Amino acid sequence: MYNTIDKLFKNHDISDKELTDLITSAEYDDYLFEKADIVRKKHYGNSVYVRGLIEISNYCKNNCYYCGIRAENSLVERYRLLPDEILKCCETGYSLGFRTFVLQGGEDIYYNDDVVCSIISDIKASFSGCAVTLSLGEKSYLSYSRFFEAGADRYLLRHETADNDHYRLLHPQSMDPDNRKKCLFDLKKIGFQTGAGFMVGSPFQKTGNIISDIRFLKTLNPEMIGIGPFISHKNTPFGNYENGSVQLTLRIIALVRLMFPDALIPATTALGTMLDDGRERGIKAGANVVMPNLSPQDCRKKYEIYQNKLYSGEESAQALLKLRKKISSIGYTVSMERGDHKPENSLT
Ligand code: SAH
Repeated sequence: MYNTIDKLFKNHDISDKELTDLITSAEYDDYLFEKADIVRKKHYGNSVYVRGLIEISNYCKNNCYYCGIRAENSLVERYRLLPDEILKCCETGYSLGFRTFVLQGGEDIYYNDDVVCSIISDIKASFSGCAVTLSLGEKSYLSYSRFFEAGADRYLLRHETADNDHYRLLHPQSMDPDNRKKCLFDLKKIGFQTGAGFMVGSPFQKTGNIISDIRFLKTLNPEMIGIGPFISHKNTPFGNYENGSVQLTLRIIALVRLMFPDALIPATTALGTMLDDGRERGIKAGANVVMPNLSPQDCRKKYEIYQNKLYSGEESAQALLKLRKKISSIGYTVSMERGDHKPENSLT
C-alpha cells in the first residue's frame, strides 16, 4: 500500500480499486498525511489562509434532510442580516486584517439579484483588495453572471454527493442533482474560483459514493474543495443517524490533497465541532484554509446547520488571536492575504 501512496504522490491519481483500498484502511494514515502535507507545502508553503465567514441568513426555502436550517424545521429562530449589518461585519473583519469575506446563507428569497449585487459592490468599494466569496445555493446562469459582474470572486456550492440515487436519499424530490452539478459548471464557465465538496459519513453513503465524488471533482476541477463530517441535527429527518467519522474525513482530505495538489481545502468547522483539535488535524492532513466566524454574536448559535456547531461567543479579535496561536503551535502560519487559488502551472 505504501507503493500506492507513492504512486498517488507522484501522479496525482490512482485506480478506483486502489482508492477503495486506501479509503477503507486506517493503517496507512500517518504516511498518507505526511505525503499530503509535503504536497500542500510545495504549493502553498506553511500558510493557512483565513476567510471571514458571515452567515447572512438562516431562512431557507429548501428541505435538505440533513440540514438544521431546512424550511420545515419550525424550531429554528430565524434571522436575516440586512445589507448594512453585513457591511458592519466586513468592517470589523477588515480592521482585523481579513481580506476574504464569505457570505453564506440558506436560500433566502429576500436576497434577490439586485440585493446581492449591491452588497457585493458595496463590499468591494469599501474594502479595497478584498475577495468576496458567495455561498448562497443554486441560482441561474444569469444570476451567477450578475454576481460575477458585480465583483464576486469565488463561489462555494458543495455538490453534496455525485451519485444521483444517493442525492435523492438526502434531498426531497423537488431538488435536482443535475441542476446542482450544472450550477457548478456554470460557475466555472463564468470565471468564479469555484468550490465543490461533500460530507463524509452522510446517511447511506458507501465507499463507492466517495469514489464517485472524487471522480466528479476530477471532471469539474474546482479551485476549492470542502469536505467535512456529517453531524446529525435532532430536528431533521436524519436526527437519529450516526455522525461521520473524523478519521475517515481526515483520510479523505489527505487523498484529495494528493489528487488536487493546488486546491484550497478548508479545515471545516464541522471537523472542529467533532473534536477539539479537529481543525488542526485537518491542516496536518493537507487542508490549508480556515474560516473563522465574523457573524454577529447573537446569530452564530442560530445558524445551526448541525447540532452543537462550534461557535465562540468571543469577540472576533480574540478568536483570531487564539487561532493564530493554535496554528503556529502546530508549525503553520496564518496568512491574512486574499489567498487566491494558485494553479499548478503558475508555480515557478
Ligand atoms: N445554502 C447554501 C449553504 C449550505 S450550508 C448551499 O446550498 O450551498 C453549507 C454546507 O454545510 C452544505 O453544503 C452541507 O454540505 C453542510 N451541511 C449541512 N448540514 C450539515 C450537517 N448536518 N452536517 C454536516 N454538514 C452539513
